[in-house]
Amino acid sequence: MDAREKRMAENEALFREVNERVQEAAEHGGGTYDYFCECANVDCTFRITLAPAEYEAIRKDAKQLVVLPNHYTPEIEELVAEHESHWIVRKDGEAGEYVEKLDPRAR
Ligand SMILES: [Zn+2]
Repeated sequence: MDAREKRMAENEALFREVNERVQEAAEHGGGTYDYFCECANVDCTFRITLAPAEYEAIRKDAKQLVVLPNHYTPEIEELVAEHESHWIVRKDGEAGEYVEKLDPRAR
């Protein structure tokens, strides 16, 4: 994992940490909430509207991240699923282990 790849992984992990707060505040009964796009672009602050249960399903895998359609970087992650409102990406190798280590739920 080079410095650039590490920086992108850190950015993704940072937005995931912010989303963790959205998730904590969300009421799990129904409705949707605005989560941040967890892509590698530091300048991206777009939101993704998801039901807490949808976010939770993605979040179960500490190497998975939720991004807006086309907000994924093929060199550093794999595309897992394409939905109309969001895509799911997964990191593997060293970067995967790194984001897993940065997972606030793992602390
Ligand atoms: Zn994005």
